Amino acid sequence: MPTVSFTTSGALQKSALRQANERLVLNSIRRHPGISRAEIARIMALSSTSVTFVVNRLRKNRLIVEQKLGNGSHAGRPPTALRIRTDAMWAVGVEIAQPTSRVVLVDLAGNVKKQETVPWQVSPELFLHKLHSTIRKVAQPCRSETMLGVGVSMPGTIDKASGRVIAAENIGWFGVDVGRLLRRRLRWPFFYENDANVSALAEHWFAPLESDRFRYFVYVRLRTGVGTGVVVDGRPLHGVSSAVAEFGHVMLYPDGRPCSCGNRGCWEQYASEGALLRSYQELGSAKRKNETPIDSETLIQLARAGDKRALKALRTTASYLALGMVNLVAALNPQAIILGEPMVSAWDLVEETIREELRKRVPPYALSDLRVLPSQLGADSALRGAAALPLAHYFTRFDHGKEDALPNRVAIEAHV
Ligand SMILES: [Zn+2]
Repeated sequence: MPTVSFTTSGALQKSALRQANERLVLNSIRRHPGISRAEIARIMALSSTSVTFVVNRLRKNRLIVEQKLGNGSHAGRPPTALRIRTDAMWAVGVEIAQPTSRVVLVDLAGNVKKQETVPWQVSPELFLHKLHSTIRKVAQPCRSETMLGVGVSMPGTIDKASGRVIAAENIGWFGVDVGRLLRRRLRWPFFYENDANVSALAEHWFAPLESDRFRYFVYVRLRTGVGTGVVVDGRPLHGVSSAVAEFGHVMLYPDGRPCSCGNRGCWEQYASEGALLRSYQELGSAKRKNETPIDSETLIQLARAGDKRALKALRTTASYLALGMVNLVAALNPQAIILGEPMVSAWDLVEETIREELRKRVPPYALSDLRVLPSQLGADSALRGAAALPLAHYFTRFDHGKEDALPNRVAIEAHV
């Protein structure tokens, strides 16, 4: 929680301060639905006068609702519960992925209100044209003044400002102007982010309160490749060209399997969902070589039903996954490593393999503070994270980004 202090000097606009303070309180109500005015005052270290001022403005602007709880004591007014008005604002989330991309409309609390899918097409132009019309369709019921924007999750190395995919080897996109094609004739703000980073953002943004303590963690996305999103102090880490934390291409074996990046033996060639399915194929007998490929969901069902080949493929892949996690721990010493699908669905089958490998290879002092856990959002993490991009901008816009001229901690008392 922000400790309130007056850290500005000079000409910070009073209205900007007021708005920033309102967002801080609004975000607190979002994180703690049903919170009372007194609790806000306590956890944000504010006077009751300040809280009353801000809460009344939020009510007047129809961003929150306040419900009475009982009659209260004779000594004071009845206690009340504050909640954000979830239909006050809307956002669109887009996940670009093979074989199916998804577009959702979410309310201010991130609840999904509408969802559409878009099948993959080889031509990026045709695919993005269809995606563009689907975004318009999904957002159509919302008045433009209530639309916070569109968040787009994309694979590969991207230019966050323009929404250009610089290189996404696993889907064969190089220099594709996703942003330009999606923004056409749409006036809302667009936000772009790499899929592993948005997945990490989703874990942070939608996390239950008890996992609030994870402010420095790594999300490992396991699809065709392996993507890693690193969150530092609650925000995704970006390099100078957004190509930071490409741990999927950290080499495990110099003469190993060829990788789409041009190198050999990269972690993603052994630990991704694609590697899991290949491992299953390779474990088949010669006469089965032409069998129809299965998906990871079926593979996990087979393993659960006692299929030794499926179980071996899962545990071999989990073992390789742990090898790369050893590198993550050595490089970053994070609080937590959160794993995505398909390991979420197979967690009871692979957890011990992963933990045993880590125990063998990571010093006890580095392992003792590390939490390793499956994603709570499962296959929806990138999609939910994409929708969270405009929401996070709205709730915390005075904390970072182009408003960096403003202080991180604003003087909530200063304007009342
Ligand atoms: Zn590679």
